[in-house]
Amino acid sequence: MLTESVENYLTAILRLEDQGAAATTSELADRLEVARPSVTGMLKRLAAEDLVTHERYRGVQLTEQGRTAALQVIRRHRLVETFLVDILGMDADKVHAEAHRLEHALSDEVVDRLDAWLGRPTTDPHGQPIPGPINLQGDELEEDVTD
Ligand SMILES: [Zn+2]
Repeated sequence: MLTESVENYLTAILRLEDQGAAATTSELADRLEVARPSVTGMLKRLAAEDLVTHERYRGVQLTEQGRTAALQVIRRHRLVETFLVDILGMDADKVHAEAHRLEHALSDEVVDRLDAWLGRPTTDPHGQPIPGPINLQGDELEEDVTD
């Protein structure tokens, strides 16, 4: 399990990559509202866990594993937003903060059941695509064997 903080870094880096912007230390510090030395420390940790690569002049880039993990957080976020709007009837403008808290709390099984119950939606209430499920456990097991 990744910590909430790690998940927030990974999704922030993914969003910057998707916008075609370099995920630099200062950009991440602004986005996550943390001090630059904290970002530097966290990026070392993420690199050690093989979630990002960090090259001095190119900024931070997600590894395949980091990208997969970030997409799963976004999947949880967007499914929760769909649940809050479609089922609980909340205003679409108000669900982001709720979803941001809940996105870290749901297990894979709960997310999968929620997804099925919602009818496997492909977009969230804001029209953003919901990433599909990925079997992380299978991948990790295989890597352990070959290492
Ligand atoms: Zn949102």
